[in-house]
Order: sequence, then C-alpha cells, then structure tokens
Amino acid sequence: MDVLTGGNGNARVWIENHPTEGWAPGRVDSVGSNGLYVVVDDQGTKFEVAPENARQVDPNCLRGVDDLLSLGDFNEGALLHNVRSRYFNDNIYTGIGSPILISVNPFQNLPGLYTEAKQKFYRERSAAAGSGEDADVPPHLFSVAAAAYTAMLGDARNQSIIISGESGAGKTEATKRILTYFANLQRTAGATSEKTSIEEQVLRSNPILEAFGNAKTIRNDNSSRFGKFIDIEFGSSGKLTSAKISNYLLEKSRIVKQQPDERGYHAFYQLCAGGHSLSDIGPTLGLRSAYEHSYTAVCTEIDGVDDASMLEEAADCMDGLGFSKEEKNSVFQIVAAVLHLGDMQFEEGDDGSVLPDGALTDKICELLKVSKADFTTTFQHKTLEDPFTKKIIHMPQDPTSSSNTRHSMAKHLYSRLFDWLVWRINLSAAGKGGGGGRKENTKKIGILDIYGFEVFEWNSFEQLCINFANEKLQQHFNSHMFTLEQQLYNEEGISWSHIEWQDNKEIIDQLERKPLGLFCILDSECLMPNATDDTCLSKIHSSFKSSRVVYKTSRFKSTNFAVAHYAGEVVYNVISFLEKNTDKLHADITNLLKSSSMPITRTLFSDPRFAPDMQAQAAQSRPGAPPAKRGEPNQRAKQNVTVSVMFRQQLDQLVEDLNRTNPRYIRCIKPNGNKQAHEMDSLDVQRQLRCAGMLESIRIRRAGYPVRRPFKEFFNRFRLLCPHVSTGRSLDPDYKELCRRVLTDVEAKFQAQRQPVEAKSWQVGRSKVFLKEEL
Ligand code: ADP
Ligand code: MG
Repeated sequence: MDVLTGGNGNARVWIENHPTEGWAPGRVDSVGSNGLYVVVDDQGTKFEVAPENARQVDPNCLRGVDDLLSLGDFNEGALLHNVRSRYFNDNIYTGIGSPILISVNPFQNLPGLYTEAKQKFYRERSAAAGSGEDADVPPHLFSVAAAAYTAMLGDARNQSIIISGESGAGKTEATKRILTYFANLQRTAGATSEKTSIEEQVLRSNPILEAFGNAKTIRNDNSSRFGKFIDIEFGSSGKLTSAKISNYLLEKSRIVKQQPDERGYHAFYQLCAGGHSLSDIGPTLGLRSAYEHSYTAVCTEIDGVDDASMLEEAADCMDGLGFSKEEKNSVFQIVAAVLHLGDMQFEEGDDGSVLPDGALTDKICELLKVSKADFTTTFQHKTLEDPFTKKIIHMPQDPTSSSNTRHSMAKHLYSRLFDWLVWRINLSAAGKGGGGGRKENTKKIGILDIYGFEVFEWNSFEQLCINFANEKLQQHFNSHMFTLEQQLYNEEGISWSHIEWQDNKEIIDQLERKPLGLFCILDSECLMPNATDDTCLSKIHSSFKSSRVVYKTSRFKSTNFAVAHYAGEVVYNVISFLEKNTDKLHADITNLLKSSSMPITRTLFSDPRFAPDMQAQAAQSRPGAPPAKRGEPNQRAKQNVTVSVMFRQQLDQLVEDLNRTNPRYIRCIKPNGNKQAHEMDSLDVQRQLRCAGMLESIRIRRAGYPVRRPFKEFFNRFRLLCPHVSTGRSLDPDYKELCRRVLTDVEAKFQAQRQPVEAKSWQVGRSKVFLKEEL
C-alpha cells in the first residue's frame, strides 16, 4: 500500500539505519525534489527514505504487542521498536510465537514479577489450556516454564529451555527463576516441604555453583564463567524426582590472572573474608585478607556484596546437600592451597629452582597432604624421558619454568575441584533412584544456561570455543524453526516447496571437519614437537586459502585470523592458542597430587572423570612405546585429549540430547553496558538481536509466507480495496471464500496496472490467509 495515499496522511514509515535508534518510526513529511520521501522522527530530525524502501509501520507495533507474530509487519524494525517500547514500560518479556521469548534485563527488581501468585497464575492457565495449546497469557519466564511442563505431561517427548545471551543479559537469573518455578510446583501443591526434599536440593546447588564458578567481570558482577545444562526429571505423576547438572568449559585463565577491574572466582575472596571462622579448619587455612594474596590482590571487593556471608551460605548449602565434614573441609583446603600456590616465589639455585619461603611450602603441603620432599622436587626438576636413550633424566627448572608449573597446578586443582563439586551436587540431587539406575516413566525438562556469542577487542581460544558452541546451537535453532514452519504449512494445507533459508552448515563444517577443519589443524599442531602459535597460524592460512569462512584479516596483524560467524566476523589472535588447547599438566604434578593422603585430591588426579589426561598419561609412560619420529605426530595421537576435543565431544552430546527434546528459547538481551534501569543502547540491542539469531528466524519466516491473518481480520481490514466483495446479509459469512475473492481481485488489479506480481504471492490456508508481503 502506498505510504502516502494509503493512510490518513499520518502514515508512519520505518527509518532504517537511524544513527541512534537503529530503526525508528517516522512520519512522512513531504516528497523531496529528488523523489525521496522526507521522513521526520519523533525528535524532529529529518531523514530521506527512497519510496521503494519505505515500509509502513504497523500501528500495533507503536503500542507494543505481547507477541511479535501478531504484527502483520514483522521486520527487524518492528522487532527492535516493539522490544524497546515495552522495555520502557517495564514489560521486559516479548514473545515471538510460542517457542521464543525475548527477555530484556531490567537491572532493577520489578515488583510482583516473580511472586507465588504469578507462578500460580501461569501454572493454572497453562494446565487449563492443555498440552497441545498455548495458554493465551502475557509472555513471561513462567509462561515458558509452564508450557514446557504441561507439554511434558501431555506429550511423550522431553522438553528443553535454551537460555542464551551475552554476559550480564540475565541468563542465570532466568535459570534460577525457572528452577524455583519447578521446585515450587510441589511445594505449593501442598506437598511436604521437608528440608531434604529434592526441590530443596535443587535450589541449594546454586549458591555453591555461583561461589566456585562465578566471578566479577567488567560486564557482570556475578558472571558465570562456565556453561551449564540442568536436567530435571519428573515422575509419571509430574513430581520432581531428580536433577542433574552438566557443566561446560570453566574459564581457567581467570584462576591465576584477571583483567583490570575483574576478580577471580568468588570462592577465593569468600574464603579470605570468612574462612577463619569455619569450624575445625578455619585457623589451619592460613589465609590473610584478599589483597595480601597474589591471585586476589588486584580487585578485592564488589559493591553491596558481603563475601563472608556468601561463604556461610555456600557452606550451609553443602551441609544441606549432605557433604560430609571431610568433604567440605577438603574443598576449602584445596581452594586455600590454590591461593597459597599463587604466592610462591622461586629463586635460581645451583640445581634447579629453590623455594625460599619454607613456611609457605609447609602450609601448602599440609593443606594438600603431600610430602614436602616430593613437592619441592616437583618445582626443582622436571622428569623427562630422553627420546633416544629412553633414559629418565631430571632437568633442572629455572624460576620462570617453576612459576609456570605452579600456575598450571593451581589451574588444574581448581578446575577439577569444580568438576568434582558438580559431580558431588549431582549425587545429592539424584533422588531416591540413586542417579544411574533405570527409572520408570520419567520425563525431563532440560535448562541450558550457556554463554552467548562473544566478540571482544582481543579474541582468543576461549572465544573460538564459545562462538563455535553458538554456531552449533544456532544450527539447532534454525532447523527447529524451519521444521515448525513446515509443520504449520502442512497443517494449513499450504504448499511450501519454494522456501529456502540460509544455513550456517558451511561455517560449522569448515571449523570441525576432518582432517582439515580449523579445530583439527589446531589439535594436530598440539602434537607437533616444534609447533608454535606461528606455525599453527600459517597452517590455518594455507589450508583455508580460498575460504569465505576462515581467512586472513584485512587489518594488518600477523598473528590474526578471522572467522565469518553467522553473527558476524570475529578476528582471533592466535597467541597462546596451542598452550590453551593442550592444557598439559606435567606428569610430575599428577604424580605428586596422586600421592596425596587427602582422598579428594587423589581422586582429582587419578579418576578419569576428573582427570581426562589419565588415559594419555598412561599411554605415555607405558614401557616399550615406540619413539616418535621428529616432526611427526607420534602414536599418542589417538589419545590426543585436547581441550577442543573434549569441548566438542560435550557439545555433540548436548546437541544430540537437545535434538531429542521439544525446545523453547529464551533470548536474553542486555539493554545497556552501564547496568542501569530504563536505559537502552538501541544499536547494541539491535546487534544482540541479530546475534541471537532473531534475524535468521525472521528470514526463515520471510522465506515462506511471513504475513498471516485470520480470515475475518483480513477481510475486515482489506474489504475497502474491493467494495463489491461483501458479506451481503449473511450472519455467518464464509470469510475464507471472501478472502479468496479479495485476493484474486487485488491481484487482477495489479496485473492490469502491469505491476509485477510474484508467483504464488498468497495462499489461503485452513484458518488464515498467508501472504508473502503485507498488502
Ligand atoms: P548472565 O547470566 O546472562 O551473565 P545474570 O543473570 O548474572 O547475567 O544477570 C546479571 C545481573 O543483572 C544480575 O546480577 C542482576 O543484578 C541483574 N538481573 C538480571 N536479570 C534480572 C531480573 N529479571 N530482574 C532483576 N535483575 C536482574
Ligand atoms: Mg550467568
């Protein structure tokens, strides 16, 4: 419809590429001498818009609608503006059809948003609607949770809720609210709320995970530095019976070093602040205040956070989950040992490094329960096998090498302890069935809280892994959305053979294919004795000479390569890629910690569940293993357990699990970088909506028939175009037929005016009119 003549003179059109708003609705003021429309935004600034680009704004969008699919005009502008205007009215949730919820972090506690009354409302409405239907309720986290629960009860399939978004966007808060919702299902249903109930156990896991896996970053004071998938299991009656957490890739570098204004893991500061008052072990930890320890010295406090009381909460939760006194003490002893490791100094000696601070060495050995002689030797010498004579040699370490050995020990101790904690929590939350056992008729809802797509000034190995995870999840999302579209078309009897949509398969393929995908190159470089980050980079460049996915950057930086991700280009810096991917722990340290008389420390370095290097280590020390040729990957290749290999295995498993579920998506958006309520950086929100794949879901819709209108609504809106098509006197007119007549008529008019009409630009379904474009 022509924007100038079609409306009432007040026609609103989209101003695209608006400098501050991204997309903004404007009023057509006049037609310039150059034929362009002059459009004025709400602040009075004038823009020129080419008539062919002038898209009319759906008036509903200006008011803000609950579900974006109810807009006839579903484009990026509508998406952005709708989300924006709702956010300023404290409506932080917006739906895009039933499987997608957009959530904007309010950065304030909105009263009444998560009350038990709200939970009850959504629970009852969803139950009343039944499993096949979506309850007609305002979009909310609880509407997603309730729909998943109702669908699970009525449907044989497991369900999942996939929460994504960048750091500080509200993923973990959303996860907690949803978990609380599920835990409350039984509590409010009048069931016993015993302290040992599985619901309580599920809620107790969180303070522990946050203490050990979260840290202050510049983006978020309580940023989760790991991904998690929580599988909650329900019995046939719908009662929560168990929960199981899987964790992904804890950020290890943070343990020993942080960026300015950031902290290490909360547990460090909590233990420094409150550790001395822990019964039994408090005084033996030997900790001082955080700024006196090297790993925690830089940024010690967070506004409004009392680290000592957080420690108490985490410790209480451990008690509640049934951790034995020994287990709990061991956990704190290991964390204290990590902090002390950070304070070690090394001096040059005649025969390898020496440790000048005897008291510190004693303390660490006491905490980790290892022999002081073995501990000292570990930092003094490195045990190596002479590749030719096969003799064991003890190479003296210089202070730099010893210092690195120490950091590596700290990182492995802490990250394995974190894995152990997750395992231990799962043990308590496994319910009466005891976890592994076969369970009858259980159904699951999985909740995924995982890092979103990341682009920084400096992007390293961690970003590559995270962004690859996002590619995988995006592929899952796209194929699911596409499948849903097909389903709807089938139900409505629409032929959809000519729908094409963009797929990110090629990107994924170039990253993971064997043997020359990016990750494979990286992994095989890790096995080359003389490989460096540089040799790795030149292999990447030579393998991807004509690739549009992996390429050299135009910006001149010899250590960079770029990847064209679905959400945009990311430039990675290859420095320390090999080290991070190999993440090797020298066998001397493993042996030292395996000799500990503390059961948990021993477990962390001998049980393959926590010590993924165990198999490779075993192969290494096997007598008679043939020597590797120079420059060739040796026979250990089969046990090449790199970080990337493990991460990709986990991801494949995750995607496989998700594929067996009926997914719902929560896309969390961070409205501004200042953590402020009622402030929105529209351009940044636009970028996030793109990264969340919202544009892709628009594209999938646009590839088909994006505009759908129920017959009656369509007819009443467009009957003016064809005055001779009327309902007559009928009280129950056949709207479907009337719509068909209007559409045929309009098409004929277009053809008469010799305007091109796209083949099959409309179809009439069973309940709706389907259009390629708004009339
Ligand atoms: P993410 O897990 O995506 O990194 P978080 O869930 O930790 O982000 O949220 C960051 C911070 O934003 C929280 O600590 C909290 O202060 C605030 N926040 C997030 N979601 C909400 C919400 N729904 N209501 C109020 N504050 C919120
Ligand atoms: Mg988080």
